[in-house]
Amino acid sequence: MAKSIDTRCVQAGYTPKNGEPRQIPIIQSTTFKYDSSDAMGALFDLEAPGYFYTRLQNPTNDMVAAKIADLEGGAAGMLTSSGQAANFFAVFNICENGGHVVASSTIYGGTFNLLAHTLRKMGIETTFVSPTCTPEELDAAFKPNTKCVFGETIANPALAVLDIEKFARAAHAHGVPLIVDNTFPTPVNCRPIEWGADIVTHSTTKYMDGHGVGVGGAIVDSGNFDWMAHADKFPGLTTPDESYHGIVYAEKFGQAGAYITKATSQLMRDFGSIQSPQNAFYLNLGLESLHVRMPQHCKNGLAVAKALAASDKIEAVTYPSLPGDDNYELAQKYLPNGSCGVVSFQVAGGRAGAIRFMEALELVNIETHVADARSCCLHPASSTHRQMTDEELIAAGISPSTVRLSCGLEGTDDLVADVEQALAHV
Ligand code: PLP
Repeated sequence: MAKSIDTRCVQAGYTPKNGEPRQIPIIQSTTFKYDSSDAMGALFDLEAPGYFYTRLQNPTNDMVAAKIADLEGGAAGMLTSSGQAANFFAVFNICENGGHVVASSTIYGGTFNLLAHTLRKMGIETTFVSPTCTPEELDAAFKPNTKCVFGETIANPALAVLDIEKFARAAHAHGVPLIVDNTFPTPVNCRPIEWGADIVTHSTTKYMDGHGVGVGGAIVDSGNFDWMAHADKFPGLTTPDESYHGIVYAEKFGQAGAYITKATSQLMRDFGSIQSPQNAFYLNLGLESLHVRMPQHCKNGLAVAKALAASDKIEAVTYPSLPGDDNYELAQKYLPNGSCGVVSFQVAGGRAGAIRFMEALELVNIETHVADARSCCLHPASSTHRQMTDEELIAAGISPSTVRLSCGLEGTDDLVADVEQALAHV
């Protein structure tokens, strides 16, 4: 029987056997005991499944990763220490020195830095394209050494909605997978694999955790991309790995297992960006209520966006589910049940107006965070983009009066009332 996403949020990933704990157990152990060196050797050769050291894999993490993979409709998943680590691993697992990435330009600043600067130092180049580019412009961004395409379902903080089908079509026409960061909508509101994405990533720090408790990330592989059919592009998966006695991942673990097995056994082994089992446990508590929380975040986001749009103290509002928004049509297609709780807007009175508004808020706190149960807001011009002049901010697409507000789970009327009383101070 096919289970709803609601039931899978609560129960997927772990089914206790007779007499076992009902809740996912926290296996807070760095290491695992074996009766013989041969038994452990089989694990090191990837000949037998099992755990030997938590830098690579841990049972608690794997149960939670299995839940996220199930929610996304993927074949396999893994947890990482942060969303940054998830996006780094997702790209680096298939794109090495000499490779090239095509990425949407409206992505999270941390991921932009990773692609534009840090991966460049590692010999990986990225071409950024506008999410609104034509299929021809997108096609022109590819090079013979392109290994993947990257985008965010809802971009942070631009709140642009990715036309996943357009990007997937272009990626597949060039024989490479599409990686989509699905942090903002979560699989409750959008499952990119259903629209053609091959790999999905998450900053679980956001809605999945949902309570501001633990930094974390996740990667899910759909199992749909045929690495062997494009073997020349992906030698890391289709030729022998000398660090594992010549294993060929795509042959030994198949289309459904190769990508995540390589990322776990090679990248996690060498970079060690594992999530702690304790944090994985907290993450699972968040996942158990994700399907209940997301509708309230979206309800609050839409109500706040409407209240802002109705005020003469507000110059512009960006919220994909707000009728008239530039991304409204795409949001109706990919996010018909709601987008997320994050709204961005420009306050009248420039920088001073934005600051006066934020400091007058009572329920909404000033924080470098989004997607928490508690509403929070940020003024990019005086925080994340503080070093820029007003002219540089405008060139970067951020107004000195831009505020990003993440609507939490408070009562809708209370939140709208707080925003309205703060507007009265502007
Ligand atoms: N992806 C998106 C869309 C994000 O918003 C963020 C952080 O805000 C990240 C990735 C990075 O995640 P983390 O902060 O967990 O490393």
